[in-house]
Order: sequence, then structure tokens, then C-alpha cells
Amino acid sequence: MFNKNIIERQCYFCSQNLEDIDFKDVDMVRRFVSGQAKIIDPKHTGTCAKHQRKLAQAVKRARFMALLHFVKR
Ligand SMILES: [Zn+2]
Repeated sequence: MFNKNIIERQCYFCSQNLEDIDFKDVDMVRRFVSGQAKIIDPKHTGTCAKHQRKLAQAVKRARFMALLHFVKR
């Protein structure tokens, strides 16, 4: 089947009742970032549109604060 890469079906943040995503929580944010430091497609992580927007903002902030890499080779 093709859904091998789908880790979670339900949105992680909804299931954890997290309204806001803390960019300082690097270990958590890193779960939604690929090995090349790219934000993983929400289809694969199951993140809902609302949280995906917040996640993207958190990732960008984390990058700016040098908590995450912009590009990783
Ligand atoms: Zn959600």
C-alpha cells in the first residue's frame, strides 16, 4: 500500500489539545521537519490545516532563533 509513510492519521496537536505550538520545543517541532530540514507535507504527518499553519510559523521562528537548520546537506 502507499500509506506506508503516513505516521499519524489524526492531527498530533489536536490529539494533544495544543492550541499554540511552541517553537522552543525543538524536539517536538523537529518531528515535523524532514532530514533535509524541510517541513513535512501535512498529508504525511496528519496535521490539520489550522495547526499546519501554526507549525510552519513555529518552524520559521525556530530557524531564525538557530534552533533548526535552514538547509541541511
Ligand atoms: Zn490540529
